[in-house]
Amino acid sequence: MIEIDGNRLNARIDAFAAIGATQKGGVNRQALSEGDRQARRLLAELGAARGFSIVQDPMANLFIRRSGRQDNLPPLLIGSHLDSQPSGGRFDGALGTLSALEVLESLEDAGIETDRPVVVVAWTNEEGCRFAPGCMGSMAFASGRIPPEWETKLATDGAPFVGELAATLESLPMADMVGLGFPVHAYLEVHIEQGPSLEASDIPIGVVGGIQGTRWLDVTVTGQTAHAGTTALAYRRDPLRALTAALSSLYETVMPADPDARFTIGRITVEPGSVNAIPEQVRCTVDLRHPDQGRLNDLEQRVASMIATEADRQRCSALISRSFDMPPCTFSNVLQQAIELAAKDRNLKSASMLSGAFHDALFVNRVAPAAMIFVPCRDGLSHNEAEYVEPRHAVAGCEVLAAAALRLAGNA
Ligand SMILES: [Zn+2]
Repeated sequence: MIEIDGNRLNARIDAFAAIGATQKGGVNRQALSEGDRQARRLLAELGAARGFSIVQDPMANLFIRRSGRQDNLPPLLIGSHLDSQPSGGRFDGALGTLSALEVLESLEDAGIETDRPVVVVAWTNEEGCRFAPGCMGSMAFASGRIPPEWETKLATDGAPFVGELAATLESLPMADMVGLGFPVHAYLEVHIEQGPSLEASDIPIGVVGGIQGTRWLDVTVTGQTAHAGTTALAYRRDPLRALTAALSSLYETVMPADPDARFTIGRITVEPGSVNAIPEQVRCTVDLRHPDQGRLNDLEQRVASMIATEADRQRCSALISRSFDMPPCTFSNVLQQAIELAAKDRNLKSASMLSGAFHDALFVNRVAPAAMIFVPCRDGLSHNEAEYVEPRHAVAGCEVLAAAALRLAGNA
């Protein structure tokens, strides 16, 4: 058993929330900004003060390393991110990163030697709001390279990515440089749920089984524009009628038939968009999500065939293309079991669940077994300055992380 210091953890969460603090109690610590650099510096200083080694890679992913008995074994990696949304909460990311640091310090306090090294990570730019896409740090780590097209990226405030990355790297002169990507034994990440289900069921620990897949489609249905007053039904080729019929039937069937499916139409445009003309063309986006790749394929098929059928019926043509495709990720069973056992050891109730949002663990999972521990947040609120995690829940997440980490890092 390893005892964590819950007061120290919650005091650290407060200390980091002061960096980039906003009026309403949240944080604005966007990726590679001065606030982000300050938070990274504080994390590195806290680690260095305990004698841990401080390392960063060319994407400015920051690593705090505690040696193991067999120090050349691939390490257990634990952590999350320190960057935030522009009006973000103080727990999203920081909770997981500081819980990981707390585990490292608790191991040190108790004089526990682990077989493997244990490494805390703060990934660069998880949020993807100042520079898109999100999860750039973990993505580059998993692929072992920085995509060349990132070099010309500009921030939403106009700052060049390359310059901001260089300044961030330079702001940590005490850190040794390591290449992108290294062998990892396993990766664990604590994160707030960012949804309401744990709080609603009064369960402190979510064992995350995976992250649902997302697929975006662009749909175009083309007919023939004509006079609204003079064109009788038999002469109409109305693409809006075709699209609305298809969508109405999809709304009736997709989500009601499968509680894990998500089907959202977020944008529709109609051309020429004239009050007294039958439309020539309608376009819409489709956002499909499902934890199972096969079901995601089925859903895409269903959308395509329904739209084709209704387009046919109105003597229109339909064109569908994918604009984004993120396959579902399934986390390691072994790690999920380790988390479950750790919760049991601590007498904490846990429940299996899926993540609706992306996380760095999705990318790390491509190169090493990964899993996540969710803790409840008030009203399911996140990406909001009012985001709140009860101190006892922060402590619970950290205790489970510590117990699972000890199991995985080996302590023979
Ligand atoms: Zn996050």
